[in-house]
Amino acid sequence: MRRVTIFGATGSIGENTVDLISRRPADFHAVALTGGHNIARLAEQARRLNAELAVTCHAELYTELKAALSGSGVAVAAGTQGMAEAAARPADWMMSAIVGAAGLQPGLTALEQGTTLALANKESLVAAGPLLMSAAAANGARVLPVDSEHSAIFQALVGEDPAAVERIVITASGGAFRDWPLKALALATPEQAATHPNWAMGQRITIDSASMFNKAMELIEVKEFFGISPDSIEVLVHPESLVHAMVGFRDGALMAHLGPPDMRHAIGYALNWPERAELPVARLDLAKIGRLNFTAPDPARYPALDLARRVMRSGGLAGAAFNAAKEHALDAFIGGRIGFLQMAGVVERTLDTLSGESGLEDAANDLDKILAMDRLARVRAGEAITKQEERKLG
Ligand code: NAD
Ligand code: MG
Repeated sequence: MRRVTIFGATGSIGENTVDLISRRPADFHAVALTGGHNIARLAEQARRLNAELAVTCHAELYTELKAALSGSGVAVAAGTQGMAEAAARPADWMMSAIVGAAGLQPGLTALEQGTTLALANKESLVAAGPLLMSAAAANGARVLPVDSEHSAIFQALVGEDPAAVERIVITASGGAFRDWPLKALALATPEQAATHPNWAMGQRITIDSASMFNKAMELIEVKEFFGISPDSIEVLVHPESLVHAMVGFRDGALMAHLGPPDMRHAIGYALNWPERAELPVARLDLAKIGRLNFTAPDPARYPALDLARRVMRSGGLAGAAFNAAKEHALDAFIGGRIGFLQMAGVVERTLDTLSGESGLEDAANDLDKILAMDRLARVRAGEAITKQEERKLG
């Protein structure tokens, strides 16, 4: 019986994790589930999995969650303290599926306890890769990638000598606007950006897919997770989203991982690792699919990719600054303050400004410094957004 905890249980990744776990009640015991505003959903999941503890990150929703779980035997907590309580409960495996930098602290706590960390929360790896990976090493804990591309790479590397890896290729669907004329992108709305051609995901990552900020984050994730030099990581636009990643070896072999666009594969691989168990995902019929397409991404259409390369070259706290500025720019786009194309400009200006200040080169191995850079970058991004707005008015 494996004891599992799910952070962000009510989100897209969380729901898929709950789905897999609920199918095998004899194999998994739910320790803690966390969620946000959707109290009814969290309570329903906690009852279904007979969890020990349910936590909402919103302190003011404690009473509502308590009422929703009355008579269930599930303990209830809320707010920052409740989240810490969930992270501290002993578990064998923890899914980190909160969206945003808020996922960093719970993941770190899990690793410090030697818990296997299934990492969907890419923001924590982008902002604090060295801190997370060294916490894992120091405590003999495993980090298992749950992003589909990184799970694909991880699987292609099983039994291989890491020194024989020559390059890594991750694919991108191209997002909602792949075929839009460049000019039209300036007027794209958050609703339009939040529709993905192939994957059903949370709102934020779907918009990040349209702008390729998601792929930019994933480039950095590859570097942090696999220790690959930035020059050896490539992106290919692949509209079908069936090949998730490829690993190229020094003998020229290219190992590709294919699967339907269903996150239950990557989640299930991490859940069952090092074994493979049957998963309820569709099987590919390649004869029916017939054709797979690949093109190089257009740097003018996707400036986020160059920003990621800049961040990878800089190292240090640039990842924390990049992630925070991106989160802030995304909030501004969703809130209607800036246009779709201005998000990259805000992130670039934030990095430019911070390059002129001290701290950006400091190593990303200290939580307080990472969180301080996160806060500073949000302030600088806010200033860049205000400037954009003034320009629009003037
Ligand atoms: P989502 O928006 O659907 O769900 C996010 C979850 O986190 C919810 O349970 C929400 O209540 C909780 N949450 C949000 N903000 C929080 C905060 N400040 N504190 C505590 N909890 C908070 O997101 P998602 O699409 O499931 O993505 C989760 C993470 O996984 C993201 O980092 C995303 O980039 C990554 N990811 C998602 C997919 C996918 O298919 N959805 C694929 C790869 C990676
Ligand atoms: Mg991905």
